Amino acid sequence: MPKDIALGSAHAAPGQLTYGRWHAFDHPTGTPEELPVIIAQGASDGPTFWLTANIHGPELTGIAVIHDLVSAELAKRLRGTLVCIPSLNPAGFRIRERQPYFDPQDPNRLFPDRPKSGKPDDEPSFPSMQEQVWARLFEEIKTSADYLIDLHNASIQSIPFTIRDKVFYEADEERAAAEDLQRRTGELAQALGLPVTFEFKRKRYLQMKLHRSTSGAALNLARIPALTAELAAPQIIVPEVVQAAVNGLHNCLVTVGMLDEPLREVRTPQFDSDYPVRRESHPRSPAAGIARPRVRPGDFVRAGDVIAALTDIYGRPVGDGAIRTEQDGWILSISNGIGVYPNSIICGMAVRDDEPLVMKWDDAKE
Ligand SMILES: [Zn+2]
Repeated sequence: MPKDIALGSAHAAPGQLTYGRWHAFDHPTGTPEELPVIIAQGASDGPTFWLTANIHGPELTGIAVIHDLVSAELAKRLRGTLVCIPSLNPAGFRIRERQPYFDPQDPNRLFPDRPKSGKPDDEPSFPSMQEQVWARLFEEIKTSADYLIDLHNASIQSIPFTIRDKVFYEADEERAAAEDLQRRTGELAQALGLPVTFEFKRKRYLQMKLHRSTSGAALNLARIPALTAELAAPQIIVPEVVQAAVNGLHNCLVTVGMLDEPLREVRTPQFDSDYPVRRESHPRSPAAGIARPRVRPGDFVRAGDVIAALTDIYGRPVGDGAIRTEQDGWILSISNGIGVYPNSIICGMAVRDDEPLVMKWDDAKE
């Protein structure tokens, strides 16, 4: 028999699709904020796979992917349980903003932090309401999830890609388990079939609190294989991207033993790379002006190549009129807009990664 799994008012039933709502919090105006929940449970036991989307309001593709992947018919074929939350951020969805209107912080940096070691805090901490909500949801993830994939979109001009986090560990004796977790996460990323980049360099990763993203916390705190999928442009639905993601997720379900079916083709540009890559915000603008890209998402560029032309508002060159990359790599995304200031990010790139796949938390503090 499959496991007894409930999330809010959605209660899994073997061989069926069930719907419900998970109570997040109550607004001061007296109405509840609730997250939609869909559970597809197979007739036989197997892993529990969480699929979440739309934690950033304008990032809509994941909603369509969940709608296309999950059906009553899938539940009949499944082993184990698929738990889906098509919108983690209904408030951001309503106003088409990355953040919900009740909290200015990025909601994908507010999942629980690594437990503090030893010393009691001198100052009491007052977690924001969103942090309190995620702390409760994280307990649900820890209780039931064996795998988690969180669906996002990058910029208007971007290719679909998967982001993998490094696995951090506390004590030497946890290293082997950390390596095994990273290996299993790699298998899941390979099954998803999108080009894979690791997260930012560890210092920036921790500064940006990316270990407190949905998938970062699932991987590094709940210790389950977890990924972030960036499904190209926000705000719109591109059928080919939805199809690639649905096929990739089907392949994930096959790979973890939840479906006994042939793998499907995932049609998307790939990196032709024999080394691991990590993402980096590069290049950046040297000055204020108008930046016009000279590359396309998916392009491979070499150090010294021109990534964008830089002019003033009259169209006259600023400096030598070019913004160049200092690194070889693939263009993942091109920033929206053309107005730039010094250090504005021109592109997201995937560049050669020289850091280990598992790292000790304390070594990462520097
Ligand atoms: Zn996002």
